[in-house]
Amino acid sequence: MVVTVNPKVCVYCAGCVGLCPVESIELRETRLTILDSCTDCGICVKFCPVEALSGGRPLD
Ligand code: SF4
Ligand code: SF4
Repeated sequence: MVVTVNPKVCVYCAGCVGLCPVESIELRETRLTILDSCTDCGICVKFCPVEALSGGRPLD
């Protein structure tokens, strides 16, 4: 599973960027990119307050 961002939902709060343990989230102005180094840990998916991210492994 690959994490994807829905650009229509993301409000670019940048909260997920600092959470990613492998620094795989890049935010430049209004463009959020998930890099190939993403391990699908699912932390960002669970965190996003507007549910803009999907995919990743389900967290317990
Ligand atoms: S936490 Fe959600 S709304 Fe905030 S930048 Fe990340 S994907 Fe966008
Ligand atoms: S799923 Fe995990 S590794 Fe991938 S972008 Fe989100 S926090 Fe980073």
